[in-house]
Amino acid sequence: TEPLHIIGGGMAGSEAAWAAVRLGVPVVLHEMRPKVGTFAHRTGLFAEMVCSNSFRSDDDERNAVGLLHWEMRAAGGLVMEMASRHRLPAGGALAVDRDPFAEAVTERLRSHPLVSVAEEEVTELPATGQWIVATGPLTSGALAQSIRAATGAEALAFFDAIAPIVYADSVDMSVAWMQSRYDKGETVEEQTAYMNCPMDKPQYEAFIHALLAAEKTAFHEGETAGYFDGCLPIEVMAERGRETLRHGPMKPVGLTNAHRPEVKPYAVVQLRRDNKLGTLYNIVGFQTKMKYGAQTDVFRMIPGLENASFARLGGIHRNTFINSPTLLDEQMRLKSRPNIRFAGQITGVEGYVESAAMGLLAGRMAAMQLLGQALPPPPPETAMGALVTHITDGAEAKTFQPMNVNFGLFPPIDAKGGRKGRKDRYKAYTDRAKEAFLAWLG
Ligand code: FAD
Repeated sequence: TEPLHIIGGGMAGSEAAWAAVRLGVPVVLHEMRPKVGTFAHRTGLFAEMVCSNSFRSDDDERNAVGLLHWEMRAAGGLVMEMASRHRLPAGGALAVDRDPFAEAVTERLRSHPLVSVAEEEVTELPATGQWIVATGPLTSGALAQSIRAATGAEALAFFDAIAPIVYADSVDMSVAWMQSRYDKGETVEEQTAYMNCPMDKPQYEAFIHALLAAEKTAFHEGETAGYFDGCLPIEVMAERGRETLRHGPMKPVGLTNAHRPEVKPYAVVQLRRDNKLGTLYNIVGFQTKMKYGAQTDVFRMIPGLENASFARLGGIHRNTFINSPTLLDEQMRLKSRPNIRFAGQITGVEGYVESAAMGLLAGRMAAMQLLGQALPPPPPETAMGALVTHITDGAEAKTFQPMNVNFGLFPPIDAKGGRKGRKDRYKAYTDRAKEAFLAWLG
């Protein structure tokens, strides 16, 4: 069989390589470390955890990341196998002893007869052969330029600008209302594109005060040379003057409070629908470097969001990623150059687990293709399927930003017979997912 080439031996590339060799397909794994480094990696090992040593929750009944763990184990994934073997006590989280973990992944791959390792930086997207690009958030500059040339400058980002995302059903609609500014748009889709949360003057001033006082995280050394246009953190905008936000992302113009039309809001926070399902809304313009705990405190001061549940909190990081919804087909192939698949964080998923999961999937799909068959993506009821469907189809392409796995990406389960508690609902999601995943594996 023709070999599968994989660029990047990180979380995704390692998992992709393992998935392919398990199906009997030879792999050439191209990894630039230790010859060429990044600001975050320290070793030449595969699957190095660059920051935290946690794969997050291991609860496969009530947590979407835990469910993804379960699915990766069911599919024989390498990252979960080695993580379980090098697990450290950490309550419900899957924390690992990072160096022995990465050494075990490296050893398993390097000693496999079907794996050969090319210690080199790949600087150009190859024209022939079957390839998976899994070069991660810190893709080397030369390769990034080549990707940019193939995808267009608009479709490759070097930083993320993550606005927090809330679950639509946790917004208090007796306070918030649906309306597009100046009532633009005729279809139901367009009319439900925005939720609006009104503030009066004291609420606005208290909010700005809290924003300025909140604890912030710093950039890692070497991560950035400053902010880039169009994605200033909300708190940096607020520092420029008390009124700046009221004339920027929080401007109240073109909107009428549906609950109290006679009162003109002093400021309005807008939330924009983030997925086709309409289960997730992002807070427009609220990318931030506030610490996570501070974010929930500050954002719950927004009228209508007092009880908001967050599917993702905000952030800004150095992060190379492509606009997958426009560029990739459902097989994770570049539509314009189908010999190239993308996997891992560069596809616009976020986190070790999500990246490894997308590697597993891309590896299997590519290997099956080389064996003359086609593997359909897992159904959207599964965690892996929900994630790949989101990046290739479900997410809004125009505002696409990296995404963690969460239940908001799954087709909703209606709470039959009254409103089920969130906990019971999550169990219903994971039961449904496991059944669907096993059927897909079969
Ligand atoms: P990586 O694991 O980064 O692997 C990509 C590999 O490609 C690397 O080994 C790199 O050396 C190689 N490579 C790059 N360019 C080339 C090239 N041209 N030729 C050959 N090889 C190349 N996620 C979490 O879940 N928890 C965290 O705490 C966390 N902290 C982070 C902190 C920082 C500073 C950064 C940058 C990211 C962090 N992430 C974290 C995100 C994390 O990096 C990813 O979730 C995960 O590592 C992505 O997996 P990946 O395989 O896509 O990329």
